[in-house]
Amino acid sequence: MDYDLTQFLVPDFYEQFSCKCGECRSSCCEGWDVVISQKEYFDILGIQSTEEIRSRISRAFYIPKDASPERYAVLNHDWLGNCPLRSEDGLCLLHAAEGETSLPDVCRLYPRTIRKDLCEASLSNSCERVIELLVNRKDPLRFVSRDIGSVGTGYEPPYRMSLRMQCIGIIQDRNSSLAQSFESVGQLISGKRAEKRSFEECLAVMFSFCENYSDNDSSIKEYCDNAMRKLRGITESEYDKRRYLLKTMFPDIEMIQENVMVNHFFVEKFPYSETRENETEEYESLCALLCFIGVLVAGNLERINGMNDLVDLLAAAFRVMEHSAFHYNAHVLLDRAGFGEPETAGSLLEYSL
Ligand code: SF4
Repeated sequence: MDYDLTQFLVPDFYEQFSCKCGECRSSCCEGWDVVISQKEYFDILGIQSTEEIRSRISRAFYIPKDASPERYAVLNHDWLGNCPLRSEDGLCLLHAAEGETSLPDVCRLYPRTIRKDLCEASLSNSCERVIELLVNRKDPLRFVSRDIGSVGTGYEPPYRMSLRMQCIGIIQDRNSSLAQSFESVGQLISGKRAEKRSFEECLAVMFSFCENYSDNDSSIKEYCDNAMRKLRGITESEYDKRRYLLKTMFPDIEMIQENVMVNHFFVEKFPYSETRENETEEYESLCALLCFIGVLVAGNLERINGMNDLVDLLAAAFRVMEHSAFHYNAHVLLDRAGFGEPETAGSLLEYSL
């Protein structure tokens, strides 16, 4: 079959995205380990610009001990966690003075990921603007072919694309609840049904996630700490009451979760996300991810006073889930708790949003 390598599969809101720049509440420059290549590092060092910008460039990156040509220099945040090249109004000084082409790929493209080897481009849920676009739509996400100005080198093999789209189709079947749909995805992938485990056992597993990410990730530390404070010792019916309150606050929460998760499936190429897991392990991590989001939201209910607060929590959670070794860590934590099989991991779905 002849493929047109200028046509990339993208979510149908891909072209609607535009960066909020200085309006962003949690800019992607804040607190992240932004890593650039050796070539990009020396290109930036060689930029002839104003004295102010050159001075900022000189302190903007450091070279770690394990630098490689691909991961050569790391952003050196200032004491407030900001990029030294960011101005008071939140805009990038380098971008403003030298144009978009002066930026390293990660800054120029984020939150887009362009996969030339698959002719696919996606938008990460870790960006608050992406989440805003997703939570404000009612219709299911679609995927369309577009010329995005890149030329690809290959395509996803049809058998893999077929399973990816089948999983997305199951999630988008609005005749079933989302929890049932995710369980159906698990049955399709693993052939196993979810077991019933007690609320207390499931909450204990999620507390191990909260403890781990409270210690290791500044973007969700506060959410994790707060969830543990609010949910410790809680009964199942009290937890359900929190979920009910969330639904009264956001009557479209199922649609929101559907669109956010369908986008996540596409970003991650679920169940082929190129981490070390096989498809069944991907499903187990997915169960952990869904329950972890449920616990973070339920445990931070008092801090969620409107859509912006929900968007901020989701974007922060996906910073961890789409840009760290979440799949791998989830597996270690699930295994330790005796939830490392599809049946046991599936039991966590009951306590997702
Ligand atoms: S998080 Fe998204 S909207 Fe905010 S500054 Fe980064 S790319 Fe722009």
